[in-house]
Amino acid sequence: MNFSGIKGHEKQRAFLNRLSRSESIPHAILLSGQSGIGKRMIAERFIKSLYCTGEHKPCLECSACRQIAAGSFPDYVLLNRDEKGKIPVGLRDKPADGTVRWLIEKMTRVPVSGRTAVLIDGVNTISDAGQNALLKTIEEPYSEAVIVMLSEGRSGILPTILSRCMDITFNPLADQDVTSILISSGVRESTAELIAAMSGGSMDSALRLKDEKVMLGLLDFAESLTSAVKTGNSNRLFVTESAGIDDDFLLTVLVNIYSYNLRVQAGIRDSILPEKVVPDAEDAGRIVKILLAIRRGGSNNLNIKNMLKGMLYSYREIDASLPVSTDFSWL
Ligand SMILES: [Zn+2]
Repeated sequence: MNFSGIKGHEKQRAFLNRLSRSESIPHAILLSGQSGIGKRMIAERFIKSLYCTGEHKPCLECSACRQIAAGSFPDYVLLNRDEKGKIPVGLRDKPADGTVRWLIEKMTRVPVSGRTAVLIDGVNTISDAGQNALLKTIEEPYSEAVIVMLSEGRSGILPTILSRCMDITFNPLADQDVTSILISSGVRESTAELIAAMSGGSMDSALRLKDEKVMLGLLDFAESLTSAVKTGNSNRLFVTESAGIDDDFLLTVLVNIYSYNLRVQAGIRDSILPEKVVPDAEDAGRIVKILLAIRRGGSNNLNIKNMLKGMLYSYREIDASLPVSTDFSWL
């Protein structure tokens, strides 16, 4: 398969490449892994390769490739999240375009090319009722069909759906992949390396961090957190009021920064983070534990500043002797 311009995920790409040439492609394929690492791009290439008439599939130039890219290919159905971040189920009688019931109805038609391809970007955002409605279509499509589903993880997906999918797990991108993508988009090397360290292998995060104000605002916050830990004074902890930094993103980047510090201390990485954000070895582990605890307990309107302050009060009680996992594949 033609994966030009796509970085990382060599094993997953090789597997999909074999699958695309196979006689029996499974009806349902799940690509799971954190957002912003290229799952959608890879899924689209895979689907194009099933219809492409070019030499090196997908050629991205033939009529099928172009129509799929434009969303006008008759046998390709795409479900995206709406403005609320969810894929809606749709009304039973007259489902609106882009809803789960609309997809189910579309799949009762006979495909012109002999096969229908579906891309569901965010299957984990479909309600249980919607997933139940989808189940039969996944189990026994009316005609030849390949349903590719994307998800940030396996949680939020009904076990009945999971058990019918071929699950291909995607890991975060390696720092050097994020760095080289950023450099090719015109970012200076030293800045690209710093952004990569803060992005945790997500291109989505990396692109947000390309905004200098956002990046510096987050480093400022990390600096105040490191200082609060060193001095024991959490009053110096402040919340960055910069546009583009919401609590969720702040928490994500902080986890990335302090996990990166742990990798530096474990000798896996050279440090490129500014010295002021780097805590003592013991403290780095404690901070990661606090941040992960906040993330686990996080609600939709979590106030990270208050939660951090609360956790820092009992900071010295956190057992630093317990080892912190250096397996970062879950991040
Ligand atoms: Zn083509």
